[in-house]
Amino acid sequence: MPKRPEPPDTAAPLIPENAALPNLREAAANCQACDLHKTGTQTVFGEGSPRSEVMLVGEQPGNYEDLEGRPFVGPAGRILDQALAEAGIDRNLVYVTNVVKHFKWIGVGKRRIHAKPNAREIAACRPWLDAEIAAVKPKVIVCLGATAAQALLGKNFRVTLQRGQFVESPLAPFVMATVHPSSILRAPDEETRHVELERFVEDLKKVAEVVSRR
Ligand code: SF4
Repeated sequence: MPKRPEPPDTAAPLIPENAALPNLREAAANCQACDLHKTGTQTVFGEGSPRSEVMLVGEQPGNYEDLEGRPFVGPAGRILDQALAEAGIDRNLVYVTNVVKHFKWIGVGKRRIHAKPNAREIAACRPWLDAEIAAVKPKVIVCLGATAAQALLGKNFRVTLQRGQFVESPLAPFVMATVHPSSILRAPDEETRHVELERFVEDLKKVAEVVSRR
């Protein structure tokens, strides 16, 4: 019996050279560079203006994003929108995306529960994120959560220790990591949720300050 062909290790061969966002999005829709194209409903590419000054990078699309085909449209996205508004960041200046563009999940009963992408899947998908960064050229990149932070800033980066601090990076003039908004939703009680949201807004206010500098 013929062996099933292995998926390529990286999306790199699929990336059109010097492509604008619409071309990248179109090319990514057919990506099969890792096995996650089999679990996700569709590629969930980044979204926002090519002139965005801020790029927010999460881990991967969730259940809602997978079904709708758009990033940060579920409950975590609503927390993000609230925090951006409280921090005074114009949502129209923000491009949102993820390090992995298909939803990875495990079935628990009838529910699809988030599963963390592995290093191979993150590496396979990375060329799409690099192409988005090259197309948008954001002034500020904010990694949301440990997966994005470690993918972009190194595996030794600890969000718990270094959140809210701008760090040196060739990716953009200002790069910071903070928590993923879904972690705020998972807070054990309302008071903790409120405190965590406030801390998240404080981190985003530093981004707003940098964006306001001319
Ligand atoms: S997760 Fe990324 S690399 Fe894997 S199939 Fe989807 S778009 Fe391609």
